[in-house]
Amino acid sequence: MSWPSLLHRLPEVRGKLIENASLADITWLRVGGPAQVLFLPADAADLARFLAETPRDIDVRVLGAGSNTLVRDGGLKGVTVKLTPAFGKVEALENNRIRAGAAALDKMVAKAAAKAGIAGLEFYVGVPGAIGGALRMNAGCYGTETKDVLVEAIALDRTGRRIIAPVSELGYAYRHSDAPEDWIFIEAVFEGQADDPEAVTERMTAITERRETTQPIREKTSGSTFKNPDPDTSGGRSAWQLVDAVGWRGKPIGGARFSEQHCNFLINDGTATASDLETLGETVRAAVKDQFGVELTWEVKRIGEPV
Ligand SMILES: Cc1cc2nc3c(=O)[nH]c(=O)nc-3n(C[C@H](O)[C@H](O)[C@H](O)COP(=O)(O)OP(=O)(O)OC[C@H]3O[C@@H](n4cnc5c(N)ncnc54)[C@H](O)[C@@H]3O)c2cc1C
Repeated sequence: MSWPSLLHRLPEVRGKLIENASLADITWLRVGGPAQVLFLPADAADLARFLAETPRDIDVRVLGAGSNTLVRDGGLKGVTVKLTPAFGKVEALENNRIRAGAAALDKMVAKAAAKAGIAGLEFYVGVPGAIGGALRMNAGCYGTETKDVLVEAIALDRTGRRIIAPVSELGYAYRHSDAPEDWIFIEAVFEGQADDPEAVTERMTAITERRETTQPIREKTSGSTFKNPDPDTSGGRSAWQLVDAVGWRGKPIGGARFSEQHCNFLINDGTATASDLETLGETVRAAVKDQFGVELTWEVKRIGEPV
């Protein structure tokens, strides 16, 4: 499907506005319809002005590296912002701090921290997203989450106003932030502890090796599909164990299946539609509810319109 033109209602920008832009090309699952308009801002001032001058009835949302997002087949109405390399700068500061733009990949932040002899951000080498997505999702693994290393995040709201939010004001919980939905994070400051760069790098290598053997990281996937449920209500079963227990490990719907290797990971075999993937997820949720009385919650963000 393609969307009607919206350009006549949008302000002039220094970056790029692209109509009917493919989002399947910029999300890990490689499915879904186009964005009515994709905006690639030249820099933060360009983005702030765009937000201030775009009529409020036009939806504006942001995509990071697209590693936790399922775009539905009908595409995304309104404007989808994709931060450009201008938002990708990473620099070491004093006192074991790192400043990172929201478009910087998590692994680049981990590497910069290691090089500067800062420990604590190693886990980011295992998360394939960008910093904006990590701030929104409270991304984490192996016992450390974004909230544990974040000092403050800088965001623009829907009016283009710049906000500096200390970590305590971001309402973090497991894979969740209470930050207003309309905020676009543009930058963050993290803090770790001083350590030997070689020791930090070794720990990062161990994380990378562990990932490669336990997760289907080269597939068209979006990582963990469901959040792990509260162990008190799930009888201690994690999300993957519940998917397995209801018999959906590797069983397809269309071109979608849960990975045989890690069965909380949804996989597109190259022929799946967004509808195949979402239908499979909902089928499994219903089976788990039926057999175990547990409500699985989607961790993957599902956005856009069905066809
Ligand atoms: C192979 C694989 C392994 C994974 N392993 C892990 C893991 O171990 N731990 C983990 O936590 N996650 C994991 N994930 C999921 C994913 O990488 C994380 O959730 C990541 O933080 C998402 O970042 P992103 O930039 O790709 O976000 P996107 O998927 O692009 O977006 C996710 C959400 O963040 C919002 N968002 C993105 N950028 C911004 C911004 N600048 N400002 C405001 N909101 C923004 C989007 O609007 C959306 O709601 C994995 C995914 C894959 C594919």
